[in-house]
Amino acid sequence: MAKHTVTLIPGDGIGPELTSAMCRVVEAAGVDIAWETVDAGAGVVEEYGTPLPAHVLESIRRNKVAIKGPITTPIGGGFRSVNVAIRKELDLYTCLRPAFSIAGSGARYDNIDIVIVRENTEDLYAGIEFAEGSDAALELIKFAADSGAGIIKPDSGISLKPISISGTQRIVRYAFDYAIANGRKKVTAVHKANILKMSDGLFLKVAREVAAEYADSGIEFEDYIVDATCMQLVLHPEWWDVLVLPNLYGDIISDLAAGLIGGLGIAPGANIGADCAVFEPTHGSAPKYAGKDMANPTAEILSATLMLRHLGETEAADRILAAVRTVIGRGEKVTYDIRRSVTGSTEGSVGTQAYADALIAEL
Ligand code: NAD
Repeated sequence: MAKHTVTLIPGDGIGPELTSAMCRVVEAAGVDIAWETVDAGAGVVEEYGTPLPAHVLESIRRNKVAIKGPITTPIGGGFRSVNVAIRKELDLYTCLRPAFSIAGSGARYDNIDIVIVRENTEDLYAGIEFAEGSDAALELIKFAADSGAGIIKPDSGISLKPISISGTQRIVRYAFDYAIANGRKKVTAVHKANILKMSDGLFLKVAREVAAEYADSGIEFEDYIVDATCMQLVLHPEWWDVLVLPNLYGDIISDLAAGLIGGLGIAPGANIGADCAVFEPTHGSAPKYAGKDMANPTAEILSATLMLRHLGETEAADRILAAVRTVIGRGEKVTYDIRRSVTGSTEGSVGTQAYADALIAEL
């Protein structure tokens, strides 16, 4: 029997080619993993009547660890995001997205080492929405007016932004525990509490209370308004350490941080709950590049290193990260996105699998 059994969801778009490259690299690093492959997304709707069949969630619950490729979400209609649904169903309340500089990535900065801890279950991503013109929307609009909360135009669609004490406590505690376990120095809570007093205001109040619990931990705490955070991240990326944010800001700032380190192709991620963890890159399914052996599998592979650390396979994770640094640093066998950032042209880039082969040769 393999040492670890991991649920593998290849996803769609560029997902299957990235996950196959990732599996090859992890296996070449000598980790004994049995992959339990299950599919989700638009491709399974005809067979199962849903993009997220029950057996996919069962597999993750059983194995407790999963890694996935991106899954396309139809825009403006169709089914809701499968990625969001997995996080909600399994209560994966932490989205962990480390953003660190890799020499040779062609990034604008070379001194970034930020960890984004994004709340993953609440906020505007709770999925509580009321369609324009629906009875429920009209009732809510009437309630807002009758209760004196405010006037909403009758032709409005409405999305709710719930933020709870318990949800905030556990994400801020996660950020502090992560900071302590990983030798970090500072946790910054990011919010818009000056405007959104009932939701972000509560987030900030609870974050301060949790920070007080950690007063003796040696971890510094500060809070910052989200718009100012965006500007200062670009001006002084070296200022920041661990950032803890409500869901939507966390999503946006994760992409901003990915841009600072050289693009989505190298930005890993993890969704972590009390029982299960699902590892996945920050980027989406990039349908334009699907099936072309072009996309950069680094984000998927670095997500696997987060998974390996979670599984206690630290040495293999370190070796894979070192191989990534070596190959990207050397700049000879890199995918189109890195090549373009470094030289301004994609000429001389290699494909997804050739890059993975170059990593394997370094292991
Ligand atoms: P995207 O991340 O797929 O692509 C944005 C751009 O980033 C691409 O055009 C490409 O230039 C670049 N890019 C992304 N990944 C790359 C890689 N590995 N290598 C090289 N370049 C890469 O974002 P999008 O176009 O907004 O979303 C496409 C689909 O993915 C949507 O349906 C969206 O809902 C979905 N999505 C899924 C996830 C997930 O599965 N967790 C996350 C984000 C978006």
